[in-house]
Amino acid sequence: MHDVIVIGLGAMGSAAAWQMARRGADVLGLEQLAEGHGKGSSHGRTRVIRRIYSEGPVYMPLLTRAYALWGAMAAESGETFLVRTGGLDIAPENAPSLANAIACAEAEGIAHDVLNADSLRARWPEIRVPDGYAAVFAPDSGQLRSDPANCWMREAARAAGAELRFDTPVLGWRRTGDHITVETASGTERAKRLVIAAGAWAGTLLPDIDSALIVERQVVGWFAPSDETDLTRLPVFQVEPTDGRRYYVLPPLDGSGTKIGLYGHRGERGPHMRDGRAPDAEDEMLLRAGLDEWLPDANGPLETLQECRFTRTADDRFIIGNWPQDEAVTLLSPCSGHGYKFAPAIGEAAVQLALGETPVVDLSPFAVSRFL
Ligand SMILES: Cc1cc2nc3c(=O)[nH]c(=O)nc-3n(C[C@H](O)[C@H](O)[C@H](O)COP(=O)(O)OP(=O)(O)OC[C@H]3O[C@@H](n4cnc5c(N)ncnc54)[C@H](O)[C@@H]3O)c2cc1C
Repeated sequence: MHDVIVIGLGAMGSAAAWQMARRGADVLGLEQLAEGHGKGSSHGRTRVIRRIYSEGPVYMPLLTRAYALWGAMAAESGETFLVRTGGLDIAPENAPSLANAIACAEAEGIAHDVLNADSLRARWPEIRVPDGYAAVFAPDSGQLRSDPANCWMREAARAAGAELRFDTPVLGWRRTGDHITVETASGTERAKRLVIAAGAWAGTLLPDIDSALIVERQVVGWFAPSDETDLTRLPVFQVEPTDGRRYYVLPPLDGSGTKIGLYGHRGERGPHMRDGRAPDAEDEMLLRAGLDEWLPDANGPLETLQECRFTRTADDRFIIGNWPQDEAVTLLSPCSGHGYKFAPAIGEAAVQLALGETPVVDLSPFAVSRFL
C-alpha cells in the first residue's frame, strides 16, 4: 500500500510526486505514455512566465509562490530554469487586459513600465506596433526551460524515493474501504490517497467533471530569423488586438528560433483532440500570419512545428482541490493554456491538500465544486 498514487507525470504530476516524496511519503507515479513524451500539455523547450497577470488577482499568491519555488529549484539544481528576458502585454490603449495588467502590477508593487506605441517602438523597433496601442513591461517576466525543468522534477522525485512507472495506463480507480484501488493495464495498486494530474484525460478518470473540461488542439512553431536581425534581446510578449486573437511570442533562446503560438489556435475542440493530429500547412500559415503582423524579422525558415493540447474550463480558471465525493482524491487540472508557470506551487499545494494542511495559497478560487 502506497501513501500516494499520482496519475499522470506531466508538469503537475511530476511537481506533486517530487514534493510528496520530499515530505517522506511513499509515492507511486503512473504515466500512460513514455517518459518525456510529446502527447500531453507540458512538453517542449520553453514556456512563458509572466510576473504581471492580467487574468486577475486570484492568481497572484500562487504566482508569487511559484517564482520563489523556481528560484529554489535553480539553487538546488544549479540549473537556470527561469530566464528573465522581461515581458510585454501589448494591446489597444483602452483594452481591459491592459488595465488589468497595470492594476495587478500596481496592487502587487511589481516593477513595471507602461509604454505607449512610440516608446515601445523606440525600445524594440523589431516589434510592429500600430498607433493607439500600448504595453506594460515587466522585467521579471521571461521564459522557462520546460523540458529540462520537467526532467529535473522527475529526477528529484526519484531521488526522494518516488517510484515512477511509464507506459502504464491507469484504467480506473475506486474507493475500497480505507484505501483507494487503482487498476492499471499491468495490475492493481493500492494507496491511502490519490492525485489525479491527468491533463486532457482527467475527465476519463472523473466522469462527473468531464463535460467541464474542454480539450483544445494547439500548435506552436519555431522560426529562424528572416535576416541577420538579432532577436535574442527581445522580451517575451503577448499581443491582443481587438478581434479577440491573442498571440504569444518567445524570442530565440538556447540556439532555437522565435517561438510563436495563438491562444485557441484553430478552435479545434473535443475529446478526440486527445489523440492529436500532426501539424500541417494551415497551422504554419496561421503562425506565420502572426509573425508577419507583429514580428516580421522572425518570419524566416521554419524550424519546427509542435502540437500540444490545452485543457480549458468554462472560466479558463484552474481546478485545484480535493474531490468532494472523496476527500482522499486531489484533482490538479491547471491548464487553460497558462498553467505551466505555476507547476512547482501547484505541486506544493497538492502536498498540503493531501496531508490535510492549510495550503499556503488560498485555493478557493480554483475549487472543483464550481463545476459539480
Ligand atoms: C502549446 C502550449 C503552450 C503553452 N504555453 C504556456 C506558457 O507559455 N506558459 C504557461 O504557464 N503555460 C503554458 N501552457 C500550459 C501548460 O503547458 C499546461 O497548463 C501544463 O503543462 C499542464 O500540465 P499537466 O501536468 O496538467 O498536463 P500534462 O502535461 O498533459 O500531463 C498529464 C499526463 O497525464 C497522463 N495521463 C493521462 N491519463 C492517464 C491515465 N489514465 N493513466 C496514466 N497517465 C495518464 C498523460 O499522458 C500526461 O502525460 C501551454 C500549453 C500548450 C499546450
